[in-house]
Amino acid sequence: MLKRYLLAPGPTPVPPEVLLAMARPMIHHRAPEFDPIFAEVREGLKWLFQTRNDVLMLAASGTGGMEGAVSNFLSPGDKALYVNAGKFGERWGKLCKTFGVQATELKVEWGQAVNPQQVADALKKDPSIKAVYLQASETSTGVSHDVKALGELIKGYDNTILVVDAITALGVFDIKTDAWGLDVVITGSQKALMLPPGMAFVSVSDKAWALADKAKNAAFYFNFKKERETQTKNQTAWTPTVSLIVGLQEVFRIMKAEGLENMFARQGRLALAMREGVKAAGMALFAKESPSDALTAVCAPDGIDGQAIYKNLRVQYGMTAAGGQDHLKGKIFRLSHMGYADSFDVIAALAATEMVLKGLGHSVKLGSGVGKAQEILMAK
Ligand SMILES: *Cc1c(COP(=O)(O)O)cnc(C)c1O
Repeated sequence: MLKRYLLAPGPTPVPPEVLLAMARPMIHHRAPEFDPIFAEVREGLKWLFQTRNDVLMLAASGTGGMEGAVSNFLSPGDKALYVNAGKFGERWGKLCKTFGVQATELKVEWGQAVNPQQVADALKKDPSIKAVYLQASETSTGVSHDVKALGELIKGYDNTILVVDAITALGVFDIKTDAWGLDVVITGSQKALMLPPGMAFVSVSDKAWALADKAKNAAFYFNFKKERETQTKNQTAWTPTVSLIVGLQEVFRIMKAEGLENMFARQGRLALAMREGVKAAGMALFAKESPSDALTAVCAPDGIDGQAIYKNLRVQYGMTAAGGQDHLKGKIFRLSHMGYADSFDVIAALAATEMVLKGLGHSVKLGSGVGKAQEILMAK
């Protein structure tokens, strides 16, 4: 028998209370019993997003939310700017192209964060840019961007919105949607929200709704205006992910019992323990700056194939992590600590990594990373 551990940056483990809630008999989404559940979840989303605006719920993976954040706000020929600092940043470019948006790429070396000054320069050069797209946490590299600074910057542009893919940020670290002026914020169910895959969530500011009124792109399924109209009445335009919404009600009960501050503190502590543990075991972090607290991208030691580390973690120890994508394939592996994670997930991941490295012939002192993590986790 091999016990399974899920340490991939999505899907992430689902708490047993949530699984049990989702196992209850199916209810009908147009029947009265759905109303209070949907209302409670809508309120919970506002709390998590730290916004007074409605947060739309969509039946889609995170990318559906990203697609809607292009098609609902921009028209063919409109200008946009997107930060490409990794695989997910790159996706903004592909989405803009699909919808005929003229998008300028702000290329940042993978492993680094965007310098807000570069965005400021691009906007100064071309104030007709209607939307700036980026990630709060770039999951392919394990780097976070300073969305607070960008929010402050874009507040000064009346005709430009800031769209933040916060899919591995919301619920991990502080994202103050309204206070920071983040016009559109997106997350998905299968990351820090501790749910199975299948839902995208999108908050929209008044400034962004004004842009949506003028947008001429076609959006039928992901039609934000139609969703807002129905969701404020505790309904959805199409059949919703009933079971996931029931699960989300339970997720918010867990999250609220912990509190936002404590949740961010726990996630931050786990991330610190993982990073320091990785370094103490003689490995290097892939993030050159501002590492994301959602996951840790680790450079494979010289002469060791990152894919072999990732594969052996799974095959030998039942631990599903993630490898590197594109040109990072074989060079890095990624360990998640977002969502339903505690001290022993970090310790188990470090212990297994040390064992795999030793098994692959790398000289690593067993317990070196684990010991360091234990010290940090005890010091809370
Ligand atoms: C997971 C993820 C997404 C969404 O991917 P889906 O497969 O569509 O859920 C988007 N952006 C980031 C940063 C992610 O981590």
